[in-house]
Amino acid sequence: MARPDGKDRAARRPPGPSTRAVHGPEERTGGPMSTPIVHSATFRFPDLEAMNAAQAAGPAGAFYQRYGHPTLRACEERLAALEGAETALLFSSGMAAITAAFASHLKAGDHVLSLRQCYGGTTALLAYGAEHFGWAHDLVDAREPDGWERAFKPNTRILHVESPTNPTLTVVDLARAAALAHAHDALLTVDNTFASPVGQHPLALGADLVMHSATKSIGGHADLLAGVVLGARARLETVWKARKVLGPVPDPAVAWQIERSLKTLPLRVRAANASALALAQRLIGHPAIAAVYYPGLADHPGHIVARRQMPLGFGPVLAFEVRALGLEPGAAATEVVNRLELICHAPSLGGVESLASLPAHTSHVALGREGRAAAGISEDLVRVSVGIEDLDDLWADLEQALAPVAARAPAARG
Ligand SMILES: *Cc1c(COP(=O)(O)O)cnc(C)c1O
Repeated sequence: MARPDGKDRAARRPPGPSTRAVHGPEERTGGPMSTPIVHSATFRFPDLEAMNAAQAAGPAGAFYQRYGHPTLRACEERLAALEGAETALLFSSGMAAITAAFASHLKAGDHVLSLRQCYGGTTALLAYGAEHFGWAHDLVDAREPDGWERAFKPNTRILHVESPTNPTLTVVDLARAAALAHAHDALLTVDNTFASPVGQHPLALGADLVMHSATKSIGGHADLLAGVVLGARARLETVWKARKVLGPVPDPAVAWQIERSLKTLPLRVRAANASALALAQRLIGHPAIAAVYYPGLADHPGHIVARRQMPLGFGPVLAFEVRALGLEPGAAATEVVNRLELICHAPSLGGVESLASLPAHTSHVALGREGRAAAGISEDLVRVSVGIEDLDDLWADLEQALAPVAARAPAARG
């Protein structure tokens, strides 16, 4: 619609991601700068017609808070604009989002293909679904996409992937995965948490649904739990029904907090990605380090694909293997993480604070030592989620934490 002053948004160049993050998708000329927090569990109507209209609007209506509410909707629209999706639905955790996406698209007897490297909670959800809902599933190896085709069954409804994967950052070619899923009449669902909504756009590469743990880069400040599912409006109708039935709807205060975080998302993601790349480059060749995993490194097996599908850099997460140098497996990595001062020893990722964790004790503890070896996860692997602190401070912290290991490696020092 043309504005009286002739400044028709459609006629101007489309806004970039940082502009969309700050201003949202909607053209507004007046009113509050910040979305009002509407703390109302229910809404009142002058007549039945008005109530029916609000109810029929589904997640975009203001009828009853579990159905959706104005503060949540504003945030969902801003998120959809960033991800390049028609629409979005927020949930009270990443797991609630993934559960709703799966539950809304699977019936008893349906089969799911997922990656062995996917988030542990997702694999646990599939096991739970097998026990309680009659879903079947198989896990394939992210590093061997040539073998995925053989794992499809006539009842495979979903291929679920992540890219890059945790913790060794295997890159999945999302366009290729979409083509494979569609050739088997299945959907491609992508957990895009590691890349963030501005760092990678799976829907543009053929994915049918994208989900995030909004607890990570989207929230970005380690202060809230949330999740989101994004995709075409028609596909999200059934996901909305699942949200309405299951009930995991973020409250207005959390929705407002997420929207506030979105305004700085591109800024935070660019900064973290740049620092992660710089740290990965500095870690190569360090005498205490046996291997560095980061898709931004030219010799990473997924580098070329990642460069194509991650326009803002290669994500905030890197991992490195500490040289054991004759110690018990895991002892050297434990020593390093215990010595870190600025980088916090904590699970999670994508926040403004840099975090380090030992996958053998967090995300991959359930696999056991042999399972981890089969998955290519060393006992001496350290995962770092890079925040937005000054790069030289992060590097100084890593260097001092690695110093005792380096001191035990005289040969490598040259
Ligand atoms: C953290 C995480 C989840 C789960 O999200 P919650 O918000 O903790 O429920 C799912 N997928 C990935 C890749 C994650 O990192």
